[in-house]
Amino acid sequence: MIERKPEPYKIKMVETIKLISGEEREKAIEAAGYNQFALKSNDVFIDLLTDSGTGAMSDNQWAGMMLGDESYAGSRNYYNLESAVQDIIGYKYVIPTHQGRGAENVLFPLLIKNKGDYVLNNMHFDTTKAHVELKGGRAINLVIEDAYNTEKEHPFKGNFDLEKTEAFIQEKGVQNCSFIIVTVTCNSAGGQPISMENIRGVREIANKHGLKVIFDAARFAENAYFIKQREDGYQNKGIIEIIREMFSYGDGLTMSAKKDAIVNMGGMIAIKEDEELFTLARSMVVPIEGFPTYGGLSGRDMEALARGLYEGSDEAYLESRINQVAYLGQRLIDAGIPIQRPTGGHAVFVDCKKFCPHIPYYQFPAQSVTVELYKEAGVRGVEIGSFLLGRDPETGENIESPLELLRLTIPRRVYTYNHMDFIADALIKIWDRRHELKGYEFTYEPQVLRHFTAKLKPVE
Ligand SMILES: *Cc1c(COP(=O)(O)O)cnc(C)c1O
Repeated sequence: MIERKPEPYKIKMVETIKLISGEEREKAIEAAGYNQFALKSNDVFIDLLTDSGTGAMSDNQWAGMMLGDESYAGSRNYYNLESAVQDIIGYKYVIPTHQGRGAENVLFPLLIKNKGDYVLNNMHFDTTKAHVELKGGRAINLVIEDAYNTEKEHPFKGNFDLEKTEAFIQEKGVQNCSFIIVTVTCNSAGGQPISMENIRGVREIANKHGLKVIFDAARFAENAYFIKQREDGYQNKGIIEIIREMFSYGDGLTMSAKKDAIVNMGGMIAIKEDEELFTLARSMVVPIEGFPTYGGLSGRDMEALARGLYEGSDEAYLESRINQVAYLGQRLIDAGIPIQRPTGGHAVFVDCKKFCPHIPYYQFPAQSVTVELYKEAGVRGVEIGSFLLGRDPETGENIESPLELLRLTIPRRVYTYNHMDFIADALIKIWDRRHELKGYEFTYEPQVLRHFTAKLKPVE
């Protein structure tokens, strides 16, 4: 049983949301080509498309925005951000960017020296993979096999397979490897954490071969909370203490602040102590993102971000956040619905290969459940499976994704337990009539990143 403790905040401003009628939802999703990305947010009742930039800022963050200093150079808010990063993360240098991908765009070309070099990661997030490839690198995922087995319980499904990592470097030659990225938590595997022991193991491999370790730090605080909950020796440590230890094994980070730092826009590069790398990144950020003391952010945004780093690392908040996600997961498990177990930090992932075994991968079983959830209850989730994966560029065939997932991504501090119950009830109703669900086929299929703009229709 998940303890349903009250949220450690009270609500002092609300936004009205409206559940339009079933008939209107049918029309809206048909007009959207059965694609959640084409829905208008006003037609959505509960929006679980993403946890990125969708969090609710606090009174403290909003108050900080009033203290925004919009100086081009040397804004006081930059120095507040710098001192928050030094305090929580323990890195000396910080460069703000407009969001996570801005940080990747600036830093990765400095690390990928030769075309075709390998970048090793537990599991690349999609923009991270795109930026590695745009810079000529090759993105390699080395997460443990258990990450792909949704039913298997494992406390740290985001862990690197350390043996495979070492073997990969040996086989390809260290001169062909650029650097190692540690993604905390591992978004694409279901928001699954990586253990401190495993991070230490990655550091040892990196030391042995002289490789840099860069964190993809979007959900650093959620990862630290899982370490405290699940790893021996950390139960009595503070969250910030754990965060600092995690980052002590890295040389730098890129961060999307739209996740754990609870801002609607923002990101950063931080470098532990390598002055040369910092100097290079600082000169590169100017033509790409902006002057190094604002990097695409306004002063007020940097202030909200500096304060958000502290709020996102608060243990009472993290407990409430993670428990809310776990509660939704548990309600589905209790109803027999297959999900990625245990639940991760930011989302519940429903295993739709098992939900709709009668729908083949090329008719997108997870997309079918996602559409049905909108029709049933106005809840917008997102497909992470064969629809998203696209076609093999050589053969033109649909690639079969190892997992067909419906991701229910929970925004931070936005919804309550009543919303979780409403979502679970709707999905349980669909589960009871799952045999009636149909697959989908294209009426329009773009060549690249098709899931954003494709149009579909139900297969007759
Ligand atoms: C969101 C995210 C990014 C990209 O950040 P944006 O702010 O969306 O540009 C990179 N890595 C991970 C793990 C993410 O979750």
